Amino acid sequence: MRPIIITLDGYSSCGKSTLARQLANQLNYVFIDSGAMYRAITLYFLRQHIDWNNAARVKKALSGITLYFQYNPITGQSDMFLNDENTEALIRDMLVSEHVSEVAAIKEVREFAVAQQQKMGEKKGIVMDGRDIGTTVFPNAELKIFVTADPAIRVERRFKELYERNPNITIEEVKNNLEMRDYIDSNREFSPLRQAADAIVLDNSNLTREEQLAIALEWAKEKMI
Ligand code: C5P
Repeated sequence: MRPIIITLDGYSSCGKSTLARQLANQLNYVFIDSGAMYRAITLYFLRQHIDWNNAARVKKALSGITLYFQYNPITGQSDMFLNDENTEALIRDMLVSEHVSEVAAIKEVREFAVAQQQKMGEKKGIVMDGRDIGTTVFPNAELKIFVTADPAIRVERRFKELYERNPNITIEEVKNNLEMRDYIDSNREFSPLRQAADAIVLDNSNLTREEQLAIALEWAKEKMI
């Protein structure tokens, strides 16, 4: 079977990363959570008090950032490293979520992240999830999936996930954050969130994780022949 590139795009918290990770496990492919890269860049900008509306400052700041993923044998997943620091837990914080879409809308930030993402896919055998993977990062990917889910279900899923780490979080906060990110991500000037013309839609509102994996695996295998 030939190695392919699989892209998963869609709105916030519709289960893209979960599905992408499962697919990669099943196919023995590399899984890349591209959102983690934008989150790590945002964390760096917040910590260093970078004014991200200043292009020169952004460029200079990016030159000080090294990003890579490293396998964590305890969780069995890859953690996001920012300049040799494991930032996996920090980048999921609400503070980062509140600013990541603004940072991800900046041209220089996108060029920086996209170049690295494209390099990761040079040998194929990769599943990457995000917002612009099927449109900008890998426009020639063999399989493009656009994942959707009912907005209320997305809020509930995200809330459950965040509540485990932060019991002070409210459902309103989560809802507002998802709506804000979806709006910015869909309306930004540079590679906005769009369904690629040749993407297949997977609505997982009423699917279990196993069911959605079985569907996506079937699609992948058809493309690998
Ligand atoms: O996937 P996740 O929700 O962690 O992504 C966080 C944010 O990173 C998104 O809301 C979006 O602003 C940005 N992002 C992006 N392009 C991608 C992946 C994520 O702009 N390919």
